[in-house]
Amino acid sequence: MAEGLQYVYIGNVPGHDAENTYCPRDGKILIRRIGYHILENNIVNGKCKFCGFDIPGVWGDEERQKSSKSQRRKASEYLG
Ligand SMILES: [Zn+2]
Repeated sequence: MAEGLQYVYIGNVPGHDAENTYCPRDGKILIRRIGYHILENNIVNGKCKFCGFDIPGVWGDEERQKSSKSQRRKASEYLG
């Protein structure tokens, strides 16, 4: 009976360098990264590339980068 419970999940292993993000719906790997190096990114527009599942909060850095860029652009407009 215990055989069915032997799911191997290497997701948030403390002390492990690789921090991968998996889609909760289909279990496919969304972001494969080691430390700050992103080796693979399968999130498109905040959704799983494979099944379209909405991935909340994982890829918010992109919007943060956009806003910082626009702020930088405004700053350059002031200077110019
Ligand atoms: Zn998915």
